[in-house]
Amino acid sequence: MRRSPPPSLPGFDLEPAAPKLGEADRASLRDRHGEPGQTAAKPPVPRTRPAAPESAAPGQRFEACAEIAVAAQVDALTYGVPDSLRAVVVPGQCVTVPLRGRAVTGVVLAVRAIGEAGGWLDKLRPILAVPDDSIRLPADVMATLQFAAYYYHAPIGQCARLALPAALRRTGIGDDQRAERQQQWVAATYLRPWPLDLAKSQIRLLHRIEAESALPVAELRKKAPVDAPEGASKLAAATAVLQALAAKGLVRLWQQRVLRDPLGLREPPVPDVAPALTADQAIVVADLTAAVQARAYSGHLLFGVTGSGKTEVYLRLIGDALAQGRGAIVLVPEIALTPQLVQRFRSRFGDQVAALHSAMSEGERLDQLDRVQRGERRIVVGPRSALFAPMADVGAVVVDECHDSSYKQAHGVRYQARDLALVRARAAGAVCVLGSATPACEDWQLQQTGKLTLHELPRRAVAAQMPAIALVDLRTAPRLRDIEGAAGLSLLSEALVQAIGDTVARGEQAMVLHNRRGFATAMLCRACGATVECAECAVALTWHKKQGRLRCHWCDLSLPDEASCPTCKAPNLIGVGAGSERIEMTLAEALRTRLPQVSIARFDRDSVSGQRLMETLAAFRTGQIDVLVGTQLLANGHDFPKVTLVGVVLAEEGLRVPDFRATERTFQLLTQVAGRAGRGDRPGTVLIQTYKPDHFAIAAALGHDARGFAAAESAARQRCAMPPFAYLALFETSHADPNHARGALRVVVDALRGWGGDVRGPVAASVSRVRDVWRFHALVKAQDRRALHTLVGRLLREVAPGLPSNVGLAVDVDPGAFA
Ligand code: ADP
Ligand code: ZN
Repeated sequence: MRRSPPPSLPGFDLEPAAPKLGEADRASLRDRHGEPGQTAAKPPVPRTRPAAPESAAPGQRFEACAEIAVAAQVDALTYGVPDSLRAVVVPGQCVTVPLRGRAVTGVVLAVRAIGEAGGWLDKLRPILAVPDDSIRLPADVMATLQFAAYYYHAPIGQCARLALPAALRRTGIGDDQRAERQQQWVAATYLRPWPLDLAKSQIRLLHRIEAESALPVAELRKKAPVDAPEGASKLAAATAVLQALAAKGLVRLWQQRVLRDPLGLREPPVPDVAPALTADQAIVVADLTAAVQARAYSGHLLFGVTGSGKTEVYLRLIGDALAQGRGAIVLVPEIALTPQLVQRFRSRFGDQVAALHSAMSEGERLDQLDRVQRGERRIVVGPRSALFAPMADVGAVVVDECHDSSYKQAHGVRYQARDLALVRARAAGAVCVLGSATPACEDWQLQQTGKLTLHELPRRAVAAQMPAIALVDLRTAPRLRDIEGAAGLSLLSEALVQAIGDTVARGEQAMVLHNRRGFATAMLCRACGATVECAECAVALTWHKKQGRLRCHWCDLSLPDEASCPTCKAPNLIGVGAGSERIEMTLAEALRTRLPQVSIARFDRDSVSGQRLMETLAAFRTGQIDVLVGTQLLANGHDFPKVTLVGVVLAEEGLRVPDFRATERTFQLLTQVAGRAGRGDRPGTVLIQTYKPDHFAIAAALGHDARGFAAAESAARQRCAMPPFAYLALFETSHADPNHARGALRVVVDALRGWGGDVRGPVAASVSRVRDVWRFHALVKAQDRRALHTLVGRLLREVAPGLPSNVGLAVDVDPGAFA
């Protein structure tokens, strides 16, 4: 099979001459690339090129053939292109093809003259159809997918899935999805007088339709319009009552395609007036405008302190791209948390904005992508997967909060969207801006090696200054008693509680960060000392007191909290370790006498689903909530001008994570959450509680010193040869039996060592068992990227196919976490 050489990743020094993946790599991955918690145990599928070796030769003759990535399949397959489809079968086009007796969706990688199909000519099966409303991926998306397949050693079929909404993947757009897209019925009454024998429900509905309808009955009858009249009554479903009325000829029905609005932003946006730029912004915008005008790829790092007005810079950049007739993609860490950001884009650009949302239904996603594809939406805002949106002629790609760990996908194709954003921008000839107040060492490294141009916003746009940050030393500070009474001290210092009370009393708002969910992080048996663990995962259960449940945060297990100790059966379980629910309750109790009206809410994944998260944010914005207590979700780019106090309950919490990035993540989290304070006209204060006031990450956050932190952290990484000064790949095996998982990884490790690889492991993953599947890790390190890819490629080619087929094997290039 011929593959176009992968494009090189800007700044990643990967030449097309680097070793290519063989078929075997992909085939071996197909069977092993299970997600954590699954064991892939499918029998190997023959690696043949024609699509349907199982069927008799159809004997059809084709002038051309197409190489197609099929989502359900690892290798690209070759199909014949029927003459009737020649014009529409082009690279990037989604097509319907037969596979093992089913019709599935695939993406055309290449089209060739039939002579190149090899000796399989008479076995070729035809492409079945090119659905009218299916997606055609532009060349820059195709280049990005091909790069991802190469760089992350992932099957091309699996990569193609990244760009295809699940609804499309299954069988093209099936009838059920079509139905989902046309759920709205428009009805108008049509005849008068009404017959007398109508049921009550029918009369009620007729009245409602008439009341909502803008058109008089006589008018309707005259026109008998083909299309639904403007202002006719809209109904969500064709109920039996409605259908009965239609059958009697009393109403006319039209089915309308509904294009949904995922963030509930149906109301037209309030147009904004672009503010005059600050002096700092003006300099950055001038540079980026020049870059857009060059109509060529360039990469930029926008290092701007929290509240410096990075969004306004993005808006101007996008305005420039639109003015050139080009489109823009904006990646954000989690859109459910940043509805306000989407609103700002809509205020500036109106209906041109498509928002993609992790909580969207597949039908909704398809609708949005459809509009993007048709050019009705020229700006896409969404999480990492939005990078693959089928937008033609992208002129600007923005990665907001580019340091955020959510840009790394932790399953399937384990891509880093920040890096692929550079790849797509390069393929599209676009300007790519990575923005952050706390760039990661990787971001700085790209800048220092000249791959990104640095722009700075060193001051806040509105607020006069950065918030004042003070430490509360938990070793000595007086603290509140725990909510349980008893002897225990809570994690809340009197100083923090006092400050929160003062803030609320002044009519301002506060945020309190505590990055553990639930009420207690573990249940301890007072009789035997055992901790209650999940039956299927190697973790302690968390006590969610208000829900009355003990829950596993790794699987769905949830037990009633009156359970007795599973080990000794004694009924003396107590909660140990404080989660955000406990902080919230302790705080509420402490403030009750002073501020009886105070409203405290929790903001984390337990208390709130996507929709609820947005509602909580809205209530906080309008002042119905005074204090938000939550996990790191609080640190996302929220802009609440009335928040003048931010409290951090335990700053070193994240340092315990066994990950070389733990220090950096802690610094980023503290700086980001601190950045929520004092963004309006009133000055902000941050109180950071800690037992480790001298820790380097905490001290740097205290001094607002992102640069100094990055320099010291980079030096430390360089000293111990860790990324970005060395390159890592993580191999993970999984199996229900730990010996099988470890044994298979042992084989991997021995082979890599035999070839001179620098390998750590195998070790059990830090959560060694999830849903009864054991996971083991081995880490390969190389001093240059090509050496790493050579090792990984060779392993997948020569060793992986010989491993027991029921052991899951996954490889993670540039791993983001090691849990
Ligand atoms: P960042 O993303 O850098 O943390 P934002 O883009 O959220 O900061 O901007 C912080 C605040 O400053 C917002 O309320 C924004 O409306 C305001 N702002 C930004 N630029 C300007 C400007 N040029 N004039 C007035 N207000 C601005
Ligand atoms: Zn579990």
